[in-house]
Formats: sequence, C-alpha cells, structure tokens
Amino acid sequence: MRYVSTRGGVTDLSFCEAVMMGLASDGGLLVPADIPDIRDQLSDFQTLSYTEIAARVMGCFIDDIPSEALETLIEKSYATFGDERVTPVVPVGDMHIMELFHGPTLAFKDVALQFLGNVFEYVLARDGGRLNILGATSGDTGSAAIAGVRGKDNINIFIMFPDGRTSPLQERQMTTVLDDNVQNIAIEGSFDDCQSILKGVFADLEFKDAYQLGAVNSVNWARVLAQVVYYFAAWVQLGSPKAFQVAVPTGNFGNIFAGYIARRMGLPIDKLILATNDNDILHRFFTTGRYERGSVHFSYSPAMDIQVSSNFERYLYYQFDQDTTRVSDVMSDFLSKGSATVNFNTVNFDDAFATGCVTDEETLAKIVETFENTGYLLDPHTAVGVHVAQKYRNSELPLVCMATAHPAKFDDVIKKGLPEVDVTHPSLEALKELPARKSQLPNAQQAVKNFIAEHNSP
Ligand SMILES: *Cc1c(COP(=O)(O)O)cnc(C)c1O
Repeated sequence: MRYVSTRGGVTDLSFCEAVMMGLASDGGLLVPADIPDIRDQLSDFQTLSYTEIAARVMGCFIDDIPSEALETLIEKSYATFGDERVTPVVPVGDMHIMELFHGPTLAFKDVALQFLGNVFEYVLARDGGRLNILGATSGDTGSAAIAGVRGKDNINIFIMFPDGRTSPLQERQMTTVLDDNVQNIAIEGSFDDCQSILKGVFADLEFKDAYQLGAVNSVNWARVLAQVVYYFAAWVQLGSPKAFQVAVPTGNFGNIFAGYIARRMGLPIDKLILATNDNDILHRFFTTGRYERGSVHFSYSPAMDIQVSSNFERYLYYQFDQDTTRVSDVMSDFLSKGSATVNFNTVNFDDAFATGCVTDEETLAKIVETFENTGYLLDPHTAVGVHVAQKYRNSELPLVCMATAHPAKFDDVIKKGLPEVDVTHPSLEALKELPARKSQLPNAQQAVKNFIAEHNSP
C-alpha cells in the first residue's frame, strides 16, 4: 500500500515512511492510496481474537513490515491492556457500550498510542536514527503519549504542560513515569504558552533537524489505523449482525474517521452517529456544509474542546473522490478566512453520518439517568455520545456507543450529578503514593531548546 498527501504534494510513501513523516510535508494529511474492500473475508473474523483481527485489518495497509514482525508489534501493544478482549463490548440497557479505556492511562488514546510507540521503536531499530518527541498537553493526551514510548530505545519524549493548571490526577499520570527517556516539563504559563513554544521550536528547522524532533499528534496515520480495528472487533463481539450503528463522541474526528474507514472497507455499519459537545464545528458542517472555526468553549468533556477537527481533511479527500486540488482549495479558504463552504449538491455526499451536539446539562443528565436506570457509570465524553445516539438511533438495529474514558478520570463532573457515588480506579488511586518527577521551566522557547539539548542522550 502506498501513501499520498490529501493536497497532492507528497506521493508514493510506504507505511513506515508515512508514520515517520506524521504530517505531510506539503501541509496536508497522509492517506492510503486505496481503501481495500474486505467484506468477502468478514465471515472468517468471527473466531478471531482482537490481535488476530488487528493483524488482518492492519495487514491490508502495511506491506513494509513482515507479517510476523507486525504480529509481534500488535501483541506487545495490547498486552498492556487490562481486559483480554482489549476493547470489550458490554450490554447496557437496550444498547451496547464498547469500552476503549482498558489501556495504561484509562482513555481510548492508548489504543492508538501503544501501537504508534512500538512502530516508532521498530522503524528506528531497523533503519537507524533517533527521535525526540516534543508535545504540549492541557492534560489528557500527554499521559497516553508518554505511556506509548516510555522505556523505548532511541526515543526521548518531552511533554510540556502548564504548571499547576492540569488536574492533579492528570499531572500525576505523567510525572510518576520515571523512565530515563521521559521528561515532563512544567511551563510557568498557560496551555496556549506551551503551544506557542511548541510551534516556535518546530519552526526552527535547523534545531528540528539537529535534534530529530517529531510529534505524536492526532494526525499520524498509524493512530487512525489502530482505531479502525476495534470497529471490526465490535461487530464480532455483537455476533456479526447484518447491520449495526455506532455512536462516537468526537473532537478531532480521529476516532469516528477510523469508523468511516471500516465502513468503506465493507463493515456493515449503517450509520456513524457523530456527537459533539458545545464545540460543534462538525455538527454544523454536516447540517449546513459550512466548515467554520469557532472559539473554544470549556465543557464537561474537555478532550473534545476543540476549535478545528484536525482529521477532517482526510474525510474531505474521500468525499471529493481523491481530488487533491479541491481539498487544497477548501483548506486554503478555511485557513485564510476561518471558514469554507462545501456545496452538498456538487459533492456526492454519502449518508454515513447522523450528527448532534450536547450541552453540559444534557451530559450530566445522561450520566445520572443511565446510572439510575442501569447501574452503569458513563464518563462525560461517553455520555455525549449516548445522548445523541438515543436521539437518532434506529431501534431495529444493534447500537454500540464508544466509551472513550474510564469514569474515574472525570469523577469531578460525575460528583456534580451523583454526589453519593464513589467512582475510583485502583491504578489511579495507586498514583497518589508514587514518587513523581518534573522539571519546571520558564515560559521561554530558548529554555525548552536548552533543556532538549541537555537531555538528548540515549
Ligand atoms: C481524544 C478524546 C476524544 C475525542 O476523540 P477524537 O479522535 O479527537 O474525535 C473523546 N474522548 C476522550 C476521553 C478523548 O481522550
């Protein structure tokens, strides 16, 4: 399988080259040149384990890692999960929940980042080279990125976060990781300050090349690919129905885009139900055709508080029948004016999506109602998905709602609606006792560069 950029400026990369490039060098996103249709093979899937499904699905998109080596990478990536089904489906009332949160940091990003870390390590060992990963986090992704590369050869990770402004729990999920290749940097400033340092350091191309800087942002193709797998696993765990619906709480369009790929591969997903919180750029797009940047609203589902959905460009590419000129035109309109309109009549839009957006009050009400009716505790992100799913579902079809975080990660929100319920997780409790390490740095690009230079050792 070869990889190309959505904007036409990069062509003919292998899978490993696409993973190491991350963002396409022309500013676009890397996508596979074709999406294979495997509907004829699905009847064999019914007896496969999660990792066997992963090998089959990923194998369609990877031809530069031998299959035995790929199987080893997959086994290693999911051995860190706390459930043998990796992403178990559980019945809750008249629907199903797929729990994507059994990885080391209890959020769905582990599914992708455990795999990405192993692919990085494999490629660096095979081809030589080192990687210094630099990232900024307001809380949630940093810990999953760290868990993905801790202790790996030839990789260092530097994660900046605003000192004192992430939740104590989120900070401890990062700072209690004491591996030598992990550096937590508490910046004396806001999350925006961290992001502007990040941009500045990456813009210094000389520095970037000298220190082999890389990112683990949400647009890496390997992340999307790892997520495609669990849509197949959901269908198998449901007993291979003729058709089913999936609801996904959505921010950067990464998770649900993976579902869209699975659907194009022939998995019988009737509708992908896309749910946003108040940050509803995607809901507005799918109802009006207008893609327009908003300002960020802080909500009860913070991992979905985004202005722009970074994976969305990949969807446009397929909707425009892989016409890179049209994608480039829409994206340059959007980047220069903050909005772009796609005319639904001139684009052959599919009917894959139903969308809705959810307020904080509705999110909290859904957590309370679900708990009272079924005894199951939803985290606030998952509750956003469940709310929209129950509004738009076709009750004749099985429904799976993707659960993206363990409720104990967001117990502060849950307590607002269910003050008497004690929600904990042993691995989060254990963090309170563990030693922690972080480096405090001033809000200055040079200080971060110096720090990277000092810690750039194997
Ligand atoms: C990242 C995240 C999301 C949003 O996923 P996208 O791929 O950005 O759409 C939802 N819930 C949780 C808990 C997350 O960490």
